[in-house]
Amino acid sequence: MSRHEEKGAADCADVVLRLFEYVDNEAGPVDRARIEAHLDQCGRCLAEYERDLLVKALVRRACACEQAPDTLRSQILTRITATATSVTVVEQRRPEQG
Ligand SMILES: [Zn+2]
Repeated sequence: MSRHEEKGAADCADVVLRLFEYVDNEAGPVDRARIEAHLDQCGRCLAEYERDLLVKALVRRACACEQAPDTLRSQILTRITATATSVTVVEQRRPEQG
């Protein structure tokens, strides 16, 4: 009989069970480290984790009845302004034709 399990490493069932805690930042630091180490080497659990993140984002968007915090709003506005500015610069740098 041989054991393939490595000491200290979380197995897939354990990780999948704890993904929701991990996604919600509710897992303890030790659990987080074990889950992170496992996601690093297990593509299946990583895909599961990414799906959980997506679901969480969708749920958040669906219940966006509360206003976004001011810091988040200003960050988004800054990003939009920066994007608009770079578009303007690119257009101005185009040589005139005709
Ligand atoms: Zn796994």
